[in-house]
Amino acid sequence: MPEKPYDHNQIELKWHDRWENADFYKAEEHSSKPKFYVLEMLPYPSGTLHIGHIRNYSIGDALARYKWMRGFNVLHPMGWDAFGLPAENAAIANQVPPREWTLRNIAAMKKTHRRFGFSYDWDREVSTCEPEYYRWNQWFFLEMLKRGLAYRKRALVNWCPQCFTVLANEQVVDGCCWRHDDTPVEQRALEQWFLRITAYADQLLADMAQLEEGWPERVLTMQRNWIGRSEGAEIDFRLADTDQPIRVFTTRVDTIYGATCIILAPEHPLNQQLLNAEGKARAKAMVDARANRDPGDIEKEGFFSGHYAVNPFSGEKAPIWIANFVLMGYGTGAIMAVPAHDERDFEFCRKYGIAVRPVIRPVDGKLAAEPGMQEAFSEYGIVENSGQWSGLLSEEARRRMAACAKEHGFGEPAITFRIKDWGISRQRYWGTPIPVIHCPKCGVVPVPEDQLPVILPERIEITGEGRSPLENVPEFVNVKCPQCGGPARRETDTMDTFIDSSWYFYRYCDPHNSRMPFDPAKIAYWFEIDQYIGGVEHAILHLIYSRFFTKMMRDVGLIRNDEPVRRMFTQGMVILEGAKMSKNKGNVVAADMLAERYGADTARMFVLFAAPPEKEVDWRWEGADGIYRFLGRVYRFATRNLGSAGGSGESDRNVLRKLHQTVRKITEDFETRWHFNTCIASIMELVNVLYAEEAGISAAAMPEILEKLALLLAPFAPYLAQQIWEELRREGPVFREPWPGFDSELAKEDEAEIVVQVNGKLRARICAAFGTPKEELEARALADEKVKAMLDGKQVVKVIVVPDKLVNLVVK
Ligand SMILES: [Zn+2]
Ligand SMILES: [Zn+2]
Repeated sequence: MPEKPYDHNQIELKWHDRWENADFYKAEEHSSKPKFYVLEMLPYPSGTLHIGHIRNYSIGDALARYKWMRGFNVLHPMGWDAFGLPAENAAIANQVPPREWTLRNIAAMKKTHRRFGFSYDWDREVSTCEPEYYRWNQWFFLEMLKRGLAYRKRALVNWCPQCFTVLANEQVVDGCCWRHDDTPVEQRALEQWFLRITAYADQLLADMAQLEEGWPERVLTMQRNWIGRSEGAEIDFRLADTDQPIRVFTTRVDTIYGATCIILAPEHPLNQQLLNAEGKARAKAMVDARANRDPGDIEKEGFFSGHYAVNPFSGEKAPIWIANFVLMGYGTGAIMAVPAHDERDFEFCRKYGIAVRPVIRPVDGKLAAEPGMQEAFSEYGIVENSGQWSGLLSEEARRRMAACAKEHGFGEPAITFRIKDWGISRQRYWGTPIPVIHCPKCGVVPVPEDQLPVILPERIEITGEGRSPLENVPEFVNVKCPQCGGPARRETDTMDTFIDSSWYFYRYCDPHNSRMPFDPAKIAYWFEIDQYIGGVEHAILHLIYSRFFTKMMRDVGLIRNDEPVRRMFTQGMVILEGAKMSKNKGNVVAADMLAERYGADTARMFVLFAAPPEKEVDWRWEGADGIYRFLGRVYRFATRNLGSAGGSGESDRNVLRKLHQTVRKITEDFETRWHFNTCIASIMELVNVLYAEEAGISAAAMPEILEKLALLLAPFAPYLAQQIWEELRREGPVFREPWPGFDSELAKEDEAEIVVQVNGKLRARICAAFGTPKEELEARALADEKVKAMLDGKQVVKVIVVPDKLVNLVVK
């Protein structure tokens, strides 16, 4: 047959149209096959898919197709993380209602998904802004309220005094309002809702043991740090004037004789009593200045409160300071500063001339001399100058001193976590309404379950001013109290959108259920997720919140699994010709443009080929051109050899060996390392061999070669694979064919490649039959021209031979 040119648009659009209404990718509800749930993180509907999305989806798509070919019942769904601030910003900027903007973007992005031919079961599509989805956010919230896992307390929000509005954290830039970059953001206290994630802190930490095998170590480390468990003690100092206790948390009670001051967080409740008006104003200014900054980045500042506290161990009086680096959310909001043995305390006390007193010496050294101390000694050692405790090792002193505090009623051993309860109230419009009602008589009343969902009103003016846009919608706000029937106000805050993404992957298993969030039996079948794929930037928030939700749902009795995700994969970023892509720079590579210019197959294959999936990929136009040419080579080879008379057959052995080696390599890779880049490279090598040996391939061998080539391409370039499949006169979708097997005998090399090293450096390769004796390998290595040149004038002192593999010559 004459060869055909590769016309990507003609091929891809043909199959796109034929596949449009076919349901190849439906997951089966009941199946005797083993199940495989593969999931990519759902996108925010910004309007366009870019090359970073394509990489994420191409990895998942290759895996889903491979698993189908291996006979699994595959669940591969997609949805939209559809609530969030950008829709509101668009509403202010362009006068488009957030819902309309969002739905329009979803439609556009879905079109691109389909153009790329990703293998999603669209019947299971979930969009988090739809009432049939978010009603279950509300239902979960009420369940948590019943169990004491949701509660209300006053907490600080960002407030712009120019906009008269609450700002989301993303709207605070370097401590200032995003619209007024000269206006520092203030912190205001509002009543807000929290989820008690800290109740699960221990479990979140302990269950990581189940994730060791399938999750990247980097993600687990980030989660461990975020949870931040520390063992220590809570100790009561006493106010010198009133005897009132001030509880401090410390991980190093063994250093308490070195505590030279007590430091309170600027928002510590005791400040109201201790500070005069000027002090209170200074404390408030500290809280404001800290808005959304990493406490580690802030210059440490503090001031003396004018009061003293008594150390319960030494009986000594220590001054009480207020400082910006002490946080209310960690421990008790009060610390004892031990400058000699803590770097941060050292820096602070030196700055303000507070005494430094060493009380721990290194096990094999001397106690530091105070005036000469250049830095804190923060390790464990031997306790000194500490009354009856002197001479103990730090570890033992920690244990015994905490027990002593407990016995005498001025403290106890304690564990503290860095993780804080999850504040979910947002003073925003485009989110899930929090289902509670405030009644002047009954207080906070949950919306009765049969009144769910609380629907987000649609016609609404968004001005970017005031506390929450919903406050200006009387028909939403004014309600009857479900308990007493009197006039009451509906809660106008909405939920953090991270709630939406905390359980969406459960909904995919039963997306149309109107009676429950999902049928537990379906979860029991599909969960855990076998492979989750997404960016490492979600390592702490999304991937911790969804683990928390799983544990909560298990305790509610809906599911049995402790963890949602068995294996997690974090793919690397895509950059453009060496530079980071960003909307601001205007260098984001849009997926639609790529499909038009190169076709979906080339774009997918490039992002899989250019780097291992966990590493950064640099999008290079000439690299994409190279993939395009390669696919053209494949197609021309296939079409001109279809039904051809065939060649001599003398290359059959060689070509079949290469073919079976390629199948073996790709199969092993899918099962283990996912180095799709080397998989694609091995297909390229195979195609090079096919071109080189084309005249020697017999008509008998050619059909197997073309067929397996199409099957190997199916996970990476499904359109072209399908086209070749059709040219082979084969029926049905290629990605529903069984994955090709390989014959280990056929794949075996006749000869081994022996590496020859001189002083450990690779200098030559020689070929020898398997099992060639050591002496012969040595002789052949010494006879090699390149090696001879290296040995010129030198003496071989030692020869190491590993049969079938290597000869190393040690020379002087
Ligand atoms: Zn502002
Ligand atoms: Zn009431």
